[in-house]
Amino acid sequence: MDESVERVRALVHEAAAVTVLTGAGISTDSGIPDFRGPQGVWTRNPKAERMSDIRHYVNDPDVRRLAWQSRKTHPAWSAQPNNGHAALVELERSGRLVALLTQNIDGLHQRAGSTPEKVVELHGTVWWAECLGCGARTPMAEQLARVSDEDPDPSCLVCGGIQKSATVSFGQPLDPAVIDRAVDAARACDLFLAIGSSLTVQPAAGLCGVAVDGGARLVVVNAQPTPYDDLADVVLRGPIGELLPALARDLAPV
Ligand code: NAD
Repeated sequence: MDESVERVRALVHEAAAVTVLTGAGISTDSGIPDFRGPQGVWTRNPKAERMSDIRHYVNDPDVRRLAWQSRKTHPAWSAQPNNGHAALVELERSGRLVALLTQNIDGLHQRAGSTPEKVVELHGTVWWAECLGCGARTPMAEQLARVSDEDPDPSCLVCGGIQKSATVSFGQPLDPAVIDRAVDAARACDLFLAIGSSLTVQPAAGLCGVAVDGGARLVVVNAQPTPYDDLADVVLRGPIGELLPALARDLAPV
């Protein structure tokens, strides 16, 4: 096994409290493309970024119509968790996991078996729809069933407001309670693993700095360089689906 993988394996085995931050890269093996990787949604089609900006979404009915169409065919509906998600379940079972902070909206950590209470969805979830007017939440499937040529942009049945997935778009604030939980978890760990994220979206990426300031070691696992690599004790630049199972194998309980 590669020397740096052995080193991280030792760090994980020695750690008593591990906090994990995941990004889109952990779900690419499940068939959900990331945004900024070589096959990323925005790398291939820069215009798709408009759908993730709340200003365009609110002001442009065409953007909303396209967004509903793309939700109907979202790969999350049929995706299955992969070896990377499963390895993080093993980490939790070993008793080391403080929290699993995820920027992902696909729900795959919970479907893999991570305890829902341990998962902090920093950017929300695509499995629920939310009204921008009154905040009413409904299962996404109910709203997708309403989308048709006659009703390409279904409005809220409570107040008539604009609806979207219960995810955080650019221009929308994160839930302060969610940020507080994430910051607490970053401060409470002795090892912080940042996995499958370009670490370019704040405040999520900044959690690496919070953990290091709190005295934790930082390990970055990502195929491409990130702005936090210099701060990391070790950077593993390889496929998550192979690296995470190697790191979590034979973990003795703590
Ligand atoms: P990103 O697209 O900016 O970066 C993903 C990183 O993962 C890239 O640097 C890429 O090189 C790396 N990567 C991809 N597959 C990998 C693999 N198999 N092994 C190792 N590395 C791999 O993603 P981000 O940093 O999470 O930020 C994107 C934002 O978009 C997030 O806010 C997230 O909410 C959202 N998003 C979520 C999903 C999802 O839920 N699955 C998918 C796309 C985007």
